[in-house]
Amino acid sequence: MDRDYTVLFRSTLRSMSRSLALYMHIPFCRVKCPYCSFVVYTRRAHVREDYLNALVAELDLRIASLTEEETRVARGPDGRFPLGTVYLGGGTPSLLSTETLGGLLDAVRSRFALVNDAEVTVETEPGTTDAETFAALTGHGVNRVTIGVQSFDDVHLATLGRAHSGSDARAAIAACREGGITNLDLDLMFGLPGQTLASWRADLAEAVAHAPEHLSLYNLTLEPGTPFAQRAARGTLSLPEEETQAKMMRAAMSTSAKAGLVHYEISNFARPGFASRHNRSYWTGDAYLGIGVGAHGFLPGGGKHGLGRRWWNVRAPERYADTVRGGQLPEEGAEELGREAALLEALYLGLRQRSGLDLASLPRRFGIRLTPEADAMLEDFALRGLIAREAQTIKLTQESVIIADYAIGELVGLLDTAVGSDTVVS
Ligand code: SF4
Repeated sequence: MDRDYTVLFRSTLRSMSRSLALYMHIPFCRVKCPYCSFVVYTRRAHVREDYLNALVAELDLRIASLTEEETRVARGPDGRFPLGTVYLGGGTPSLLSTETLGGLLDAVRSRFALVNDAEVTVETEPGTTDAETFAALTGHGVNRVTIGVQSFDDVHLATLGRAHSGSDARAAIAACREGGITNLDLDLMFGLPGQTLASWRADLAEAVAHAPEHLSLYNLTLEPGTPFAQRAARGTLSLPEEETQAKMMRAAMSTSAKAGLVHYEISNFARPGFASRHNRSYWTGDAYLGIGVGAHGFLPGGGKHGLGRRWWNVRAPERYADTVRGGQLPEEGAEELGREAALLEALYLGLRQRSGLDLASLPRRFGIRLTPEADAMLEDFALRGLIAREAQTIKLTQESVIIADYAIGELVGLLDTAVGSDTVVS
């Protein structure tokens, strides 16, 4: 065994994760919101059954293609892979009946060994659920629910083109608790057209008053090709000033902290013990399987370098179903990570998390260590307040998290040239 291979082999053993994460995409929505770039369809009711059958067929094809080496997860004694999290997202999964969602979860359970404390999440939209829905989902083993509130203000909801009102959101939250869900995530958005700091503060105050276990607070982004991006290019979409958006982020952090929600990732806040385990697998480089149209997946030991392979699926439901029926995985594209790409990704994802990036993990994961130049540069960044450095961990500060994309871009760009990527550490 040569030295390079020994390093990777040892690193693989040390970084074996306990279980896989599974995302299943349900691409049906009541309306297409003008800021949304997800793969969703509003007029495909006739393909739903075909699509759901294809989801299960893709699951079988994907499982048959997996190895322990590329997943870095060991199969159980019965040959099945352990599964730590399941996430039914979309789209609007709650447009499907609870029997249908339960059937999908049964299909998952019979193909994987769900770990005892598996996190099973379903995304829902206000106006598509009631207490019976949530009680039925609880009965099917769902233990975490996300409600896409976005705002409690009907004016903002209309601007966002949402199909629900603020009172629908309040009713959904009450129904969720009544239905027995004890791990509730509320999604809200800020930086909306016409939104003021005062109206964002009102949304935040109402959100924490509902005592959710988890809050996801997203800054509106203009995704290329969406109607919002087109309007912005024409100059007909007026967003809050950058300084106001920075104040909105500060308000999000202080309101959440006062409510006992810990800021653990740029956009995510949770009570202790309620951070999303599913999303953590995206940020820590663990294996996740994405099933369904437009879904992405990642295998940390995949690719010819053994440093990761990601794939993304075709977007049209008819083509997706046809491909799977033909016995082929419906991948539209794939990327095999080399050492540099894997390292950049680890830096980017590590810095997104408020716990920061463990520099000591770089030799183990990538066979590299920081050069003295990189070390000096990090000191300089710390002096400028862009990062906080504690021993071997670097993280964004309270201020730099507000300009996270800029700060991470700077750090990643500079570290990339200064990490000493030729150094193999045994
Ligand atoms: S409901 Fe969600 S997934 Fe569906 S179009 Fe709107 S933003 Fe996109």
